[in-house]
Amino acid sequence: MIIDAHEDIAWNMLAYGRDYTHSAHEIRRHEQETGSETPRYNGQALLGYPDWLRGQVGIVFGTLFVGPARKRGPERHVPAYADAEEAHRLYRRELGLYHRLTEEHPDQFRLLRTRADLNAHIAEWKQKPADAPKPIGIVVLMEGAEGVRTPDELPQWWEGGVRLIGPAWVGNRFCGGTGEPGPLTDEGRTLLAAMDDLGFVLDLSHMDPQAARQAVEAYTGTVIASHANPAALLPETDSNRFLPDDVIDALAARDGVIGIVPFNRFLDATWKPGDPRLPLEKVVEHIDYICQRTGSSRHVAIGSDFDGGFGVESVPAGIDTVADLQKLAPLLAARGYTNDDIAAIFAHNWLRKLKTVLK
Ligand SMILES: [Zn+2]
Repeated sequence: MIIDAHEDIAWNMLAYGRDYTHSAHEIRRHEQETGSETPRYNGQALLGYPDWLRGQVGIVFGTLFVGPARKRGPERHVPAYADAEEAHRLYRRELGLYHRLTEEHPDQFRLLRTRADLNAHIAEWKQKPADAPKPIGIVVLMEGAEGVRTPDELPQWWEGGVRLIGPAWVGNRFCGGTGEPGPLTDEGRTLLAAMDDLGFVLDLSHMDPQAARQAVEAYTGTVIASHANPAALLPETDSNRFLPDDVIDALAARDGVIGIVPFNRFLDATWKPGDPRLPLEKVVEHIDYICQRTGSSRHVAIGSDFDGGFGVESVPAGIDTVADLQKLAPLLAARGYTNDDIAAIFAHNWLRKLKTVLK
């Protein structure tokens, strides 16, 4: 099985009306036939139920994501928030979409909220043949905590299924974020303390490194980076979106796990849309960097971010849909990774972290 720690499923449903009960190819065809603008802004779809199943992607961290109106690009029609109230409404709506998806299509999608849910899900996937239809498990990850108006509503989000929270996307009232450096604020510290009390996983992705360092120090619970690549392999950029070595070390010291993003621009900062797609080997280089840096295969995994602002034209050659993540296995093996290493990177590392939060 593969566990993918970052897919903006609800955002694609909310903003673009994508129907993930269909395959990525069916979604592409539908968008072409209807003259949809979605591929222009969000790329050609990489996700779809038959593709998750074919790639044995049995669990995904499905995000709640909406951006602030001040960061909205040329896509004027997509949802965005002006303030915390509006963010709250949009994030709630996305959570509702996961509930509806899993209630209306229980044969295809299933929310995982408890250890019992997780155990039953894994058992079903082990017991049924690889190609037999079975539901994809979704664990809800909140990306950007602007929808949390005050920390005292965190229990409601937990009740609704949210188990992981990344406070930042761009900078916000909690901390510095992508493109907007800054520390963890007092409000950020209050949020983290409340998350800690309830047992949420803290996702450092998108936090400015300064804020990330402060957050790791402040947080006593499980810490991860669901989708973030090592800054050391992207020397051409000074973007704060990538993980400096000391943050990688701090995560590893806390038994954290880092999801590598197979997005060309995150694999080679000089890559531009229209350039030839990069070799899939590039993803292995980023995985290998974390392994060499931390001394084992225990702290790295996959956080694809597929359909999260880019599509098939912006991922390495050989990846047509999420199913092709399986092609990383032979490349890792050729580089000397054992079957156990590959199983850790594909699923067991995330599984270990899920077991700390699904109770
Ligand atoms: Zn993101």
